[in-house]
Amino acid sequence: MKELKGIAASGGIAIAGVLRIQGENASGHYRMDPAESKKLYREIKILAHKEFGRLKSLSEGSDGTMSDLFESYGMIIEDPVFEEAVLGRLDAGATLFDAIKSSGEEMAAYLVGADDEYIRARSSDVIGVSDELIRQLGSLGHLKESADNAGAEDIDGSFVIVSRRLSPAQLMRIDKHRIEAICLCEGTPNDHTSILAGSMGIPCVTGLDPDLILDRFSSVIVDGNDGIVFLDPDEETVDRYTKLKDKILQRRQKARLRLLEHPLKDNGRIMKVCCNISSPDDIDEDTVRYADGVGLFRTEYLYLKNNDYPSEEEQFAAYSEALKKMKGKEVIIRTCDIGFDKAVDYMNLPHEQNPGMGIRGIRISLERPEMFRTQLRALYRASAYGSLSIMFPMISSLWELREARKYCEEVRGELESRGVKTGNVRIGIMIETPSAALLSADLAKEADFFSIGSNDLTQYTIGADRINADISRYYDAYHPAVRQLIAMTVKNAHKEGIPVGICGELASDPAMTEFFKETGIDELSVAPSRLLKTKLDLIKEE
Ligand code: PEP
Ligand code: MG
Repeated sequence: MKELKGIAASGGIAIAGVLRIQGENASGHYRMDPAESKKLYREIKILAHKEFGRLKSLSEGSDGTMSDLFESYGMIIEDPVFEEAVLGRLDAGATLFDAIKSSGEEMAAYLVGADDEYIRARSSDVIGVSDELIRQLGSLGHLKESADNAGAEDIDGSFVIVSRRLSPAQLMRIDKHRIEAICLCEGTPNDHTSILAGSMGIPCVTGLDPDLILDRFSSVIVDGNDGIVFLDPDEETVDRYTKLKDKILQRRQKARLRLLEHPLKDNGRIMKVCCNISSPDDIDEDTVRYADGVGLFRTEYLYLKNNDYPSEEEQFAAYSEALKKMKGKEVIIRTCDIGFDKAVDYMNLPHEQNPGMGIRGIRISLERPEMFRTQLRALYRASAYGSLSIMFPMISSLWELREARKYCEEVRGELESRGVKTGNVRIGIMIETPSAALLSADLAKEADFFSIGSNDLTQYTIGADRINADISRYYDAYHPAVRQLIAMTVKNAHKEGIPVGICGELASDPAMTEFFKETGIDELSVAPSRLLKTKLDLIKEE
C-alpha cells in the first residue's frame, strides 16, 4: 500500500478499482496550431524518455535484453529521420496523433524491407516508440478516444479515473454513474473539471505525483475531503475508510432531519441557499427538497458532451426537465460559457495565445448569433415549465448586456408570434470581471439580478490563472481587492433593488459566511454535495 497526498478538489470518499485514461485505444488528436503541436511533441518526448528510463532501470539485473531495448527506444525518439517526418507532417497541417502514427508506420515499413535482419527487427521498436508517444499524448488528455470511453466498457461496474489530466469535455463523455472518484496529477479545485466533479458529487483529488499515481496498481481509496489517496490499500485501511464513509452518510441523514425540524424561514430569512448544476441529472432528491432553487445551471456542458452543437430540442429537453424537477423554484440558467478551459473541437474556435482573455462566455454568443438564438429559443420555450431566469456569463461592458437582451426580445417576440407559450423570464448577469463589478451601479439599472462568479472574479482581479496549481498561493479568493469588489457590487445592486447571489466556489466556504452576511448577499449557490452542510452552517449562526 502507498499513501499519496494531493489537493482536495471535490469532497467525498470512494473505494474502487481503476480506469486509466491513456492513449492505447486512441483514435485521434484534437487539431491545433503547428507551433502548439510541436511544443506538445517536445513535452511528450520528455515524458516518453522518462518512462523508458524507468522501465530500463526496472529491467536492470535481468539478462540485459529488455534494458537494451529501452535504451534503443530512447535513441529512436531522437532519430533525426523520425523527428523530421513528424515535424514535416505537423507543418503540413496533420494532428500530432496522425503525425506520430504515420511517421512510425512509414519508418517501420521502410525498415521491414531491409536486407539486414538486425535492421528489420528494429521495425517493431519504431512502433513501440510511436505507441509510447501516443500513450503520453493520451496521459496529457489529448486523445479523442481516451477522452471518450476508452477502456470503460471493459470494466464491470464503477471505477476511479486515474489520469495525468482530464478536461471537462473528457469527463462529460464518461457515464457519471460509473465514476466513483477522480485522481489527477494536474488541476486545481477552481478549474472546471473539479467544479464539474463537485456538481456531480464525485470526489476528486488533484496534484498527485505522476511517478506514483500513473504507476501500476489495481485498487484505490480516494479521500476527496482531505486530498489523500491510497494505492492498493491494505485490509485495515479499507475497513477504516468503509466505516468513515458510513459515518458521513449517517451525518448527512442527521443533517436532513435537522433541516426538516428547522427549515430556514420564508425561504431564507438569512439567505437563500441554491445549487449549482451542470445537467438536470445533477438535481438529486436533496436539491429538490432542501435547495431554494438552482442558482447556476452551467449549460456549456451540453456543448461539451457531444461532437456537435446541441440542437434546440436537446437543449429544450434539458432545461424543461430541470424546471420541472425544481417544481416552481427558481432555476437560473446561464447561457453558454465555452472557452478557456472548456473548449470543443467542433466549434473551431480560433487558436488563442491567452484563452482566458479571449473568446469565452457572452463573447461567443455575440459572435455566433445563430448558436445564441438556438439556445435562447430553447430557454424561452422551456420557460413555460417553471420559474426560469436567464444569466449571461463574462459580461464586462454595458453594451454586451444590451446587445444580449436584444436577442432575448427578438427570440421571445418571434416565439410569441408563432403562438408558443413562454413564461415570465428574468434576465441577470454574472459579475466575474473587475469591470462588471466597477460598473455594477450602471449594470444594476438594466439587469434583474446579479450573481457573483468569485472563481473568475478572483482570477481576473488578481491576474492569477485559476487552473494553474503552481501559482495557487497567488490565486487568493480572500484577497481584499476581491472582497471590495463584492461589497461594492452588493451595495450598487441593492440601491437599484435587485438581488445578488454568489455562485463561485467561495459560496460554500464557511470562512466567508460572516462576510457574506455583513455585505448582505441574498443567495449562496453551491455544489449539491455541499448543500446540506452550507444550510446547517447558516442555522448554527442564526
Ligand atoms: C465563477 O467564475 O465563479 C463561476 C461561477 O463561473 P465558472 O466557474 O463556471 O467560470
Ligand atoms: Mg466564471
